[in-house]
Amino acid sequence: MSSAKLAEIKEREEKLLIRSYSRYPLSIERGEGCRLWDTDGNEYLDLLAGIAVVGLGHSNEEIAETLSRQARKLIHLSNLFYQEEQLELAKRILKTAHFDKVFFCNSGAEANEAAIKLARRYHQRVKNNKAFEIISFDRCFHGRTLATLGATGRASLQDGFDPIPEGFKNIPWEDAEALEKAISPKTAGVIIEAIQGEGGVRPASMEFIKDVARICKEKGVLLITDEIQCGLGRTGKWWGFQHYGIEPDIATSAKALANGLPMGAMMTTDEIAKGFVAGSHASTFGGGAMVSAVAAKVLEIMERDKIVEKVGELGEWAIKRFEKISEKFPGTIKEVRGKGLLLGIDMAFPAREIWEELLNRKIIINLTQETVLRLLPPLTVTKEELEHFASTLEDILAEKKK
Ligand SMILES: *Cc1c(COP(=O)(O)O)cnc(C)c1O
Repeated sequence: MSSAKLAEIKEREEKLLIRSYSRYPLSIERGEGCRLWDTDGNEYLDLLAGIAVVGLGHSNEEIAETLSRQARKLIHLSNLFYQEEQLELAKRILKTAHFDKVFFCNSGAEANEAAIKLARRYHQRVKNNKAFEIISFDRCFHGRTLATLGATGRASLQDGFDPIPEGFKNIPWEDAEALEKAISPKTAGVIIEAIQGEGGVRPASMEFIKDVARICKEKGVLLITDEIQCGLGRTGKWWGFQHYGIEPDIATSAKALANGLPMGAMMTTDEIAKGFVAGSHASTFGGGAMVSAVAAKVLEIMERDKIVEKVGELGEWAIKRFEKISEKFPGTIKEVRGKGLLLGIDMAFPAREIWEELLNRKIIINLTQETVLRLLPPLTVTKEELEHFASTLEDILAEKKK
């Protein structure tokens, strides 16, 4: 977009909004599928999908239709009432895994907050012990509320927010021995992303995650998998943990659940669900009729169109394709990581320049941990669109070499 117009938008925002975000230099007006258009009419290939949110693409016609139909029928009632829309969604989401029950909320952090509360209350009121501590891993991301910031455990994000609530311990990733040592009678749960997202697209190794599950079981500690980014088909299985043959006690979801409307969910087993009774936890908006109807439609479309399977196949192709770039330009790419369409290209150098050059060429991706080019495209992205990214990245690397 023209720099004059961008400067003007920036100046207005500076006056009106509390500064909390650094923005991409774009003002987007409209989207369709994997395409976005800015206010000057420029077209972009969107390989970020609102940070893994718009899984079925922008302006999806069936989603728009469901949304407008439900908006005319009923938007919100509160959880004082029974709502069939919630039950339809619950039935569909529970079919995707081994869980028995679900609680709905409005975001990822809230889903994790609910999981932390459930883990504590299950121990304190069902098991009648005093366990409260939650253990998390280096480079994890679990949210920005005070408690989930405690779980996220990153000093840079916690800066200036003392005191962070107690009851959280952050330990090294891929170190089962450290976990064994960290668990004590105070430990209520372990929270883990099977494939770390914000942390730079890092799939847990099979050995590590199996050890984590085994240790949790042996010590009577609840295993919580944060599936907010890696869940809902993103990695070629319904849930990230399903790549590893483990069965966590609790899993949390959000981001792509309602294709852009705010929604979160926490799933668990009948046994652990005993930790909550009427009044234990609540959310005014949680599972409202409209978001629930939309989320149920998301799951219906994903199942009908076999999206999870397609994501798995396309992801395998993408990783091989990106590894070819690595071979073609030795020394530029440290590692290609990911599963399905949660893809990371870890560059051998700080990659902001590459990210910017991609944006100049109208391709939107994300940069995380300074060196990792992260792709989280709509799950409906095509091979041709990913190939366009790959060949553009090759062009950029070729020019950089000169
Ligand atoms: C985005 C994210 C969250 C936080 O979700 P919000 O909706 O921003 O609160 C938590 N965990 C993971 C793994 C995420 O990717």
